[in-house]
Amino acid sequence: MSVFDDLKKNVTDFTENVAKKSSVAIETQKLKMKKSSLESDMRDCYIALGRLYEKRLTAQGEKGTEESRIVEQLAQLRASVSQIQEDLRKQKGVVTCPSCGRDVSKAYEFCPKCGAPLKEKASSREEKGEEKSRETQDEEKQTGSGGPDESHNIGQ
Ligand SMILES: [Zn+2]
Repeated sequence: MSVFDDLKKNVTDFTENVAKKSSVAIETQKLKMKKSSLESDMRDCYIALGRLYEKRLTAQGEKGTEESRIVEQLAQLRASVSQIQEDLRKQKGVVTCPSCGRDVSKAYEFCPKCGAPLKEKASSREEKGEEKSRETQDEEKQTGSGGPDESHNIGQ
């Protein structure tokens, strides 16, 4: 074998090696992506299952079990999230129209979409601000301890 042939062979080996390595890398990447996509689908299934189970447990109104405690915790978390959502909207200066449910600027006295009066005037709203937040906190406590399942208990 000549020096040239040797060199050519080495180059070919090198190129084949690189091609092989990169095709393995691509294959690995593909498998990793497939895996994480399947795992994400599994998470969605777990969430869907959890929601169904939550609904069922809430309907049953059972208390004192491990599951019912998680359901209660979920209700409290949900209340906290919607409280924060409400605070964020207040920061943005947005209120929900009680008639059509759209987000409108609290500068309006009437909903610009449907014309319904928006709860209170902006000035009296601000005066009642402190009182209002206390009311909301009380509401939250009631929801937390009483639970939304009380109404379901009546039916059983
Ligand atoms: Zn409206």
